[in-house]
Amino acid sequence: MKDYLVRGIVESKNCRVFACRTTNLTEDARKHHKMWPTATAAMGRMLSASLMMAQMNKNKEKMTITINGGGPIGTMMTVTNGDGNIKGFVANPEVHYTYNDTGKLAVGVAVGKQGTLQVVRDMGLKEPFVGTTPLQTGEIGDDFTYYFASSEQTPSVVSLGVLVNDTNEVLAAGGFIIQMLPDATEEDITYIEEKLKDFSPISTLIQEGNTPEEVLQNIFEDVKILDTQDIFFRCDCSKERMEQALITVGEKEIEDMIEKDQGCEISCQFCNTKYQFKEEELKKLIK
Ligand code: ZN
Repeated sequence: MKDYLVRGIVESKNCRVFACRTTNLTEDARKHHKMWPTATAAMGRMLSASLMMAQMNKNKEKMTITINGGGPIGTMMTVTNGDGNIKGFVANPEVHYTYNDTGKLAVGVAVGKQGTLQVVRDMGLKEPFVGTTPLQTGEIGDDFTYYFASSEQTPSVVSLGVLVNDTNEVLAAGGFIIQMLPDATEEDITYIEEKLKDFSPISTLIQEGNTPEEVLQNIFEDVKILDTQDIFFRCDCSKERMEQALITVGEKEIEDMIEKDQGCEISCQFCNTKYQFKEEELKKLIK
């Protein structure tokens, strides 16, 4: 089954809704970055939330989200521009914690909560839009919920999940977001709260084979799907881009690389692809 995302509206309950299945792309991210289970869960949740958030932008601008909670995982980052492609990384992929009582992956422990969630939207204007809110639990879903409430004044429900098997592969990943529209009433909110009380975890629903549409239909009988988009973990790096990065390092540094190592290897932060530069190539860059 392929990964995709849906955007919809529930007129009777005055809310807009998003849901996605990100099993394959989270597994791709895990393989690229060789992540351990808790790091995979943290990144997978962030990838789902970022992809759904990108669908909220009408202009498909570039959106960069950074989470740093001071935990062992370090900085986490995703970049997407609403075209279905996303890239991302965690500073320390070799992180694995579980909660003693439930055995569940302890994402909040890995991420930490002494820090912020930052969203940068580059709309091609002089100054990008920057929204920053303090982390709540480091579990990612709660942190996005707080971001929407505080930075965008939009009451929202954010549910994200990743299920990993004993050999650390991703079994299921996905999420949904419900956002109340300005006309929402107390009854609409109560309806949603009641529906979600005994709701299965999103990762379970995905694992059981529910599509993003079906996940939403389990909550709302009359959800109207407006858009569907295929989604991928896909990086836009290239040797040319790496050359540009090298040029900004400066002439002196490049000369050092030539002298000491007769070349260099740089890897893309977002997808771990390695690029080799030979001595002659570095010499050309200096010119
Ligand atoms: Zn890359």
